[in-house]
Amino acid sequence: MTIAAVIVAAGAGLRAGGERPKQYQKIGGKPVIMRTLEAFASHPRISRIIAVIREEHLDYYREAVSDPDIAQTVYGGSTRQESCRIGIEALAARPPKAVLIHDGARPFAPHALIDRVVAALAVHDGVIPGLPISDTLKRAPGGIVQATLDRSHLWSVQTPQGFAFQAIHGAHRQAAASGMTDLTDDAAVAELAGIEVAMVAGSPENRKLTTSADMADADRTQRQRRFDGLPDIRVGQGVDIHAFEPGNGVILCGVTIPYGRKLQGHSDADAALHALTDAILGAIGEGDIGTHFPPTDPTWEGAASRIFLAKAAGLVSARGGLIAHADLTILAQEPRIGPYVVAMRERVCGILDLTPDRVAIKATTTEQMGFIGRGDGLAAFATATIRLPA
Ligand code: MG
Repeated sequence: MTIAAVIVAAGAGLRAGGERPKQYQKIGGKPVIMRTLEAFASHPRISRIIAVIREEHLDYYREAVSDPDIAQTVYGGSTRQESCRIGIEALAARPPKAVLIHDGARPFAPHALIDRVVAALAVHDGVIPGLPISDTLKRAPGGIVQATLDRSHLWSVQTPQGFAFQAIHGAHRQAAASGMTDLTDDAAVAELAGIEVAMVAGSPENRKLTTSADMADADRTQRQRRFDGLPDIRVGQGVDIHAFEPGNGVILCGVTIPYGRKLQGHSDADAALHALTDAILGAIGEGDIGTHFPPTDPTWEGAASRIFLAKAAGLVSARGGLIAHADLTILAQEPRIGPYVVAMRERVCGILDLTPDRVAIKATTTEQMGFIGRGDGLAAFATATIRLPA
């Protein structure tokens, strides 16, 4: 059975707002019309597509549709019914066995839905997809409720609507000849001609984009969908500053550097590991070091800061993630950090179970400027990149 599709996109498309008609606006980086055409072009049963557009939209169409061979274009009429008839007439010289007529503003018609319509066309001359109505329906002329309607046999109708080609072609000619111009769907044209129209299950995702809210919602969903299956890459930063106090060495990245003073703090005051811990916690939105190890808790008095870093790494592992890299810069006028950088890096690689190419440790002075330059204390800045599974 040869099956063609007519995509009706000749509406003004202004209700959705925007600087161009909605069918030519982008959602998730791709124009609505292109998505709709692709939904049909990618279906193995569809051999030919007619796009019914407005003549004054031709430039928009050419800009939006990157593959000019995807569909043959014809110019629509002043009503939807008229545009559909013109689209069907464009197929008449080489008639297919069946035709699916679809709204250009329904870009999310799934293949399974097209399959259902096509399958039912083997039995019926007319097939439309619909969703049962779940809301209660009221008749309320002038805003006053007059009656509650029985919704048990009511459906909300979608497209693609499928028809035996000769039947719908004749029905459209007949409707036009009788002066009808405003029938809102092709099933109405078929019903008028006495063609039996069967209902198959529609698809909730196959919604029609009408308002600017529909467009914004579809855009958000499609942008998110483009990242489905891709890792969730996070970058976190951490900063820590500690003052010096009397002592005989500072601990940075778990390595003791001999010096006439030590860093003041509740734990071992390892500013470098604190900054790195905060960077990792920041990347996964898990607060900061104080959230997990309150300074008011005596348990952490003099604690080795590797415990804090290991805890942050454990939270990444618990989410199935990986630390892609850790980058640390220490600002200190003194002591000299350079000679200890290799040992510090080894220590961090050990705690985080990373290879050295994923850990960087750098040190710099502040050229005697500021509180660091005066030797009041030192600062550490860290960045960590985390990969979370999709
Ligand atoms: Mg600290």
